[in-house]
Amino acid sequence: MSVQLQNRPEISRQYALHRAEELKQMVIPYLEQATIIPTGTSCSEMYESRRSKLLSYFGATLEDWDNWHWQMTHRISDSQVLASLLPLTDLQRLEIERVGKTFRWAVSPYYLSLMDETDPFDPIRLQGLPTEAELFDDFGEDDPMGEEITSPAPSITRRYPDRLIINVTNMCAMYCRHCQRRRNIGETDTHSPIIQLKAALDYIRANPEIRDVLVTGGDALLLNDLTLDWLLGELHAIPHVEIKRLGTRAPVTLPMRITDELCTILAKYPPLYINTQFNHPKEVTKDARKAADKLVAAGVVLGNQAVLLKGINNQSQVMKKLNQELLKIRVRPYYIFHAKNVKGTRHFVPRIQDGIAIIEQLRGHTSGLAVPTYIINAPKGGGKTPISPQYLVSLVENKAVLRTWEGKYVQYETP
Ligand SMILES: *Cc1c(COP(=O)(O)O)cnc(C)c1O
Repeated sequence: MSVQLQNRPEISRQYALHRAEELKQMVIPYLEQATIIPTGTSCSEMYESRRSKLLSYFGATLEDWDNWHWQMTHRISDSQVLASLLPLTDLQRLEIERVGKTFRWAVSPYYLSLMDETDPFDPIRLQGLPTEAELFDDFGEDDPMGEEITSPAPSITRRYPDRLIINVTNMCAMYCRHCQRRRNIGETDTHSPIIQLKAALDYIRANPEIRDVLVTGGDALLLNDLTLDWLLGELHAIPHVEIKRLGTRAPVTLPMRITDELCTILAKYPPLYINTQFNHPKEVTKDARKAADKLVAAGVVLGNQAVLLKGINNQSQVMKKLNQELLKIRVRPYYIFHAKNVKGTRHFVPRIQDGIAIIEQLRGHTSGLAVPTYIINAPKGGGKTPISPQYLVSLVENKAVLRTWEGKYVQYETP
């Protein structure tokens, strides 16, 4: 704004009002579209009636429902049972059985209760129930990230200078159809044997440059409280381990796992970060909020690593809504991962253009807190590679041309 305008308040106010109107017009189309995007809040009545139906099928109580062990022992993985809980045609049921022979499936009653009975393209259903498309994948690989070749010690994946992953289990509350570690799911659920975890801890103790340890799986919170307490305690006692992280989808697929007892354990080992994976605003439910509230009260810092999935969340309005809903429950969007080329998931893999367009529609248009980094994992363990719309148009010596979030081109100079 020019010096003249600053000196004349009535004119600068007029200018600002004009600009404010322009900004308002910019957000209106989103506000209109967003009203038809289902969220955990807008679906809460439907979820409650689905829950009643599931409870009466199992002859169970609300207390059972809130018990994560009950949820785990009542995971649905049989197409006959599924057909009693969700309308399925015989053809759909046979399809699920056929795919299930190649790729295991299981869904917690809680996650099943979020599925819209009538919509075959429901984003929860697409993540949870097998479809024939999984069998027609001539593109994907079993291990596109080369995890099998980046393990210097049992249960460890190391791909970066100062941090690593410990894989503690192959178990999950439900088996995502887009899972990047499908090859590890196998027929049975197994936690890594304690002797392997001890060897992993020895490796970390022997390598003082490791300052950040990420405990994942599978789902790290499917370890029992006792084992988690032990493992976090061991990591906490290593002086060079500055921060600990847990990778878990429990807040999304099994929020009753976040018990008071668990939170008492987690609170003992700060600084602790939990990254979870919400992929659609429908997943941001009352129960998810309760879980997030408890974790925050235990001093845990929450982040989200969404996976960009075709037909589920590869539209900018859906991603924007998701990230705004997450901020409301104090989960900070951290990454959006481009879906990997994993065998059996080709139908979910979007175009890179989709991811770039999403970031473009987030940056500037909504809170910076709602803008995660868009990541493509380079093949063969090449590592997380950030992809961004181009905002630096040119840079020659001290002269740059920038493109602003609105698409205006401006010149910028440094001394
Ligand atoms: C993703 C990942 C990490 C963590 O990466 P950040 O970018 O720090 O979140 C660490 N180790 C491995 C092997 C990973 O794949």
